[in-house]
Amino acid sequence: MKAVDVVIIGGGPAGLAAAIGAKNAGAGSILVIERDSRLGGILNQCIHNGFGLHTFNEELTGSEYSARYEAMARDLGVPVLLNSMVVDITPDRRVFAVNERGVQELQAKAVVLAMGCRERPRGSLNIAGSRTAGIFTAGTAQKFVNIDGWMPGREVVVLGSGDIGLIMARRMTLEGASVKAVAEVMPYSGGLKRNIVQCLDDFGIPLLLSHTVIEIFGKDRLSGVAIAEVDESRKPIEKTRRLVPCDTLLLSVGLIPENELSKMAGVKLSPATGGPYVNESFQTSVEGIFACGNVLHVHDLVDFVSEESEIAGANAAGYAMGRGLSGGGIPVIAGNGVRYCVPWHINPDNVIDKISLRFRVTGVYRNSRVSVRFDDNQVFGRKSMILTPGEMESVTLKKETIAKLASAKKITVSVEEG
Ligand SMILES: Cc1cc2nc3c(=O)[nH]c(=O)nc-3n(C[C@H](O)[C@H](O)[C@H](O)COP(=O)(O)OP(=O)(O)OC[C@H]3O[C@@H](n4cnc5c(N)ncnc54)[C@H](O)[C@@H]3O)c2cc1C
Repeated sequence: MKAVDVVIIGGGPAGLAAAIGAKNAGAGSILVIERDSRLGGILNQCIHNGFGLHTFNEELTGSEYSARYEAMARDLGVPVLLNSMVVDITPDRRVFAVNERGVQELQAKAVVLAMGCRERPRGSLNIAGSRTAGIFTAGTAQKFVNIDGWMPGREVVVLGSGDIGLIMARRMTLEGASVKAVAEVMPYSGGLKRNIVQCLDDFGIPLLLSHTVIEIFGKDRLSGVAIAEVDESRKPIEKTRRLVPCDTLLLSVGLIPENELSKMAGVKLSPATGGPYVNESFQTSVEGIFACGNVLHVHDLVDFVSEESEIAGANAAGYAMGRGLSGGGIPVIAGNGVRYCVPWHINPDNVIDKISLRFRVTGVYRNSRVSVRFDDNQVFGRKSMILTPGEMESVTLKKETIAKLASAKKITVSVEEG
């Protein structure tokens, strides 16, 4: 069994930034374990631009963005174990990974969970019809087209308007396919506004809000789908049913944080995010185990993943070097109009500089105000023309504001009128 100060599970943008954060904070030994044959995670298949605007003030492709982080990690001499799948973590931070040399056992002083997320498949949707070929998750289709050079089909319907679905609607069009429509069951899109404009509007692809696929047709290969409008309770309205011939259905119906390992380690998960409950230092409910990136909560922008992961890595290094983190903390409550807020607890003693609260709203709010209150006292307010669930919101509280926390019992983040 090998002893390592900080073991980082996953070599995507979160794992790479955590490694950089841990190294810069002075961790003695680090190891990034990645199951794939290369670093970069999901960004390797993201050949579209739109990455790095916040971090580098440049518009990079996903692969360019991850290449920069990989270079930074390599320059710092971060060791990496590729082609190695972590299969178990114990609460006392023993990590078991499997690779061609067999089972590797490590004892870590601190662990950073950075395993990303996976796509929701057809099986979780309950759509009637045959189990024909031609149905793919959008991310799988993205890998086929961008990495393997295979076209999944020619006549496409996209179900779900998450960012991957929007990006794939544009990619399939650019590669010569005809995208008939993007159907979204909610009355608003699940993706970023900029992606709706750049991926659908610019290519004349219709976005059918409050619509869903209710039936799938085809024997060996998909021949069409039935689409219908839904009412307020998301039940299909039968008289609006219409048949759309197509040979490919792409699903972009949500991402699920990959937390099977976290559960093995006894980490408590939030039903709202599917990710671990963490405090201001990104430490989970199990001491010495930290989480960041999409395994913690699904992000739309990788820049925020890198920012929070660097902090998580630095805190993991601090923990490994014996810097104690005070436990407990003041609960952060998702108030009116807010679905969840990360972190879930803040202990003012642990905050070094500033802290970012990241959250998603429950619906579309116009001309409203984002508010943060310590008990009943408002410490932050920001007017917003529009807030939508598809865009993660962020509020940064400075150290001076955090200092006012000492006597508070709760922190509430909410959407208030005007
Ligand atoms: C299709 C798509 C398009 C996107 N477009 C944009 C965009 O235009 N702009 C933008 O800013 N952001 C975009 N994003 C978001 C951004 O890319 C993600 O938020 C970011 O990649 C998350 O990083 P991560 O490291 O948490 O996860 P990932 O990138 O998923 O990395 C997780 C890594 O962990 C590894 N792993 C998992 N389990 C194990 C295990 N048991 N053992 C070892 N390794 C393991 C995986 O192999 C993977 O390499 C997009 C995301 C997707 C999916």
